[in-house]
Amino acid sequence: MTEQTLLKRIDEDRDTLVALLQTLIRAPSPNPPGDTRQAAQVLLDYLESRGLSADVIEPQPNAPNLLASFAGKTDGPHLVLNGHLDTYPCDDADRWTHDPFGGDLADGAVYGRGASDMKAGTVAIAAVFAYLHEQRDELGGRVTFAAVSDEETGGTWGAQYLLEHHDVRGDCLLNSEPGGPTTVRFGEKGSLKLRFKVRTMGCHGAYTHKSKSANKIAASVVRALPAIAELPVKTGDNLGPMLAGSETEFDRLHAAGASEVLRQYTVNVGLVRGGVKMNMLPASCDCDVDIRIPIGGSVDAALKAAEEIAAQHEEVSVEVLSRDDPTWTDPGHRMVAAVQDAAAKVLGQPIHAVTSLGATDARFWRAAGVPAVTYGTTATNVAMADEHTDIDEWIGTIKVHALAAYNYLRTTS
Ligand SMILES: [Zn+2]
Repeated sequence: MTEQTLLKRIDEDRDTLVALLQTLIRAPSPNPPGDTRQAAQVLLDYLESRGLSADVIEPQPNAPNLLASFAGKTDGPHLVLNGHLDTYPCDDADRWTHDPFGGDLADGAVYGRGASDMKAGTVAIAAVFAYLHEQRDELGGRVTFAAVSDEETGGTWGAQYLLEHHDVRGDCLLNSEPGGPTTVRFGEKGSLKLRFKVRTMGCHGAYTHKSKSANKIAASVVRALPAIAELPVKTGDNLGPMLAGSETEFDRLHAAGASEVLRQYTVNVGLVRGGVKMNMLPASCDCDVDIRIPIGGSVDAALKAAEEIAAQHEEVSVEVLSRDDPTWTDPGHRMVAAVQDAAAKVLGQPIHAVTSLGATDARFWRAAGVPAVTYGTTATNVAMADEHTDIDEWIGTIKVHALAAYNYLRTTS
């Protein structure tokens, strides 16, 4: 088979692939609550229609992970294709102009919750898995398909569980989270999620001389937090120049300022919960704070700074809810080059190798020492009303995945 035959095959399947994405969107899987059984069944049916099957691994009830694998004809690298079945919740259906679970086609796009993040991507890797299986006599090594069910809630029972209990480590991970077809991502920021807990005696609201206010102390903590964004960052010698060349495109894809934020610690006070009622002096206030850690920064440095801020008040303690250091793969890895070569052929233009602002399950593979690369469609209205995916762009990303994986595994050139 030639590359052209593979690309033609994908073009011929266009309507089938779109219908599969629509069907997957019509199988709601918002997380929380994270019931992905219907969505998993859609992919199981698809694999079966292509003469394939998958193991269902369900360490948590109603959140099945799908695992399928086949060997090539000769020895070679083990490539793992990963995507997630769950989506952001949808509590704003009244703001949508399309049914969030209708899979509508309009203006050359497919609409629905998860259309962009990342049912389009998960269909892409399922399809690529099937295409590679058809060509298995030309391939060396092994291909594994791993669709997980809890990426949106941290990945403990999906990616992390599979890496600990099943043969999904592989030699390289290719993941299809959205991020824009003009970039291939080889790394991502880390995160430190903290809860600042403020506790005072509290009292009657007229007796402000009697107790400190937990809400006021929390406000002072919140005012001090931006200092964390000023922590020094040291980007490695090979990453600095590479990231510097992609600023304009990165800002175009992710809004002006994105390339600057990529290199900094950021602090988001996502939730503040303090007091009981207006005429009571608050005895308790919790602030949940999401700190993102740039490549060249560390969770330890951010945590130390946060603890120093908390230590300014004896009423404040800090609880670590989760922590993940930034992760990156050597941008010189051959899968980065394989995706860049494939994209140049499909898009007719060179693409940038970048790192990303948000976290994906790829971090688990990188943390396990496995090179991991992500490539996908533009993230359009992710976690917002009218989430959608442009069909032409999406078919293009399927082609890029297919070509990159095929060339990574094939035994002759
Ligand atoms: Zn995602």
